[in-house]
Amino acid sequence: MQKLLLPAYTAEYTFSTCISRIKDTNLKNRLSSIKETIVAAALDYEQAAGQNALYTIGASDTVNGVVTANEMSDVYDLRMAKKRGSGRHIYDKLISAPAHARCPLCGQGKVWTLDHHLPKKQYPGFAVTPANLVPSCQDCNKAKGSTVPSSPEDGTLHPYFDDIDTHRWLTAAVAETTPAAVLFNIARPAGWDDILFARVRNHFKVFNLASLYSGHAAEELANIRDYISSLHTSAGPEAVKQHLRDQADSREAARRNSWQTALYRALETSDWYCSGGFHLNADSVPGD
Ligand SMILES: [Zn+2]
Repeated sequence: MQKLLLPAYTAEYTFSTCISRIKDTNLKNRLSSIKETIVAAALDYEQAAGQNALYTIGASDTVNGVVTANEMSDVYDLRMAKKRGSGRHIYDKLISAPAHARCPLCGQGKVWTLDHHLPKKQYPGFAVTPANLVPSCQDCNKAKGSTVPSSPEDGTLHPYFDDIDTHRWLTAAVAETTPAAVLFNIARPAGWDDILFARVRNHFKVFNLASLYSGHAAEELANIRDYISSLHTSAGPEAVKQHLRDQADSREAARRNSWQTALYRALETSDWYCSGGFHLNADSVPGD
């Protein structure tokens, strides 16, 4: 999970901009009448999210009984997400925030949309609130669907409010099979309380990260096999280990908890892999 800075656009500016070109007088008046509610709710949201308490915010199918969830959904779809919508520049700014356009939820997929952290159908008051709009890849957006946290433990991480990259928490282990495989898991750092650990595990599960990372790692193992095999033949297992350690260090300097960092760390610490586990044939692996 990648930390992102909270967007600089306020809820007030975003909502006002999105509704600025509405011509239907009745709709415009009703939307204008809920502006203060939207602004106050956004402040409550930021305070709650900062304390991992979004589960305490109640769902509703209207805002103030005046504007329906479908109408708020239209404000987002037609006036913020749609090309040439009056709030489209805000959408563009939010969606372009992640480095290398990587989805902050999985750290791998390409950003494709803005995910409503609290779904807009159940929480229409946050349909265009920037703090609730998180850049996301298609897979993560689908995987999360309209799930809603009901306790401190069962939400997913929020890239604007949670920062878990201060510790190494993503680990991998080499499965001694032919071909070798790599399995990913979470190592609980000292300093994580039970709730944070449960949330990270939930995040890992909801977005299928173990499976996603294992798939990419399998491809990476295939890509480096020829080079590792040549290095092993010419310089031996210690040279293989040193090379993989250098690769792990370089990746860790870029991103502490990427699947690539965890993969290379697992490979360099596996004597089995470094001394022949990279081979495709069971006949060639160590011990035979
Ligand atoms: Zn993703």
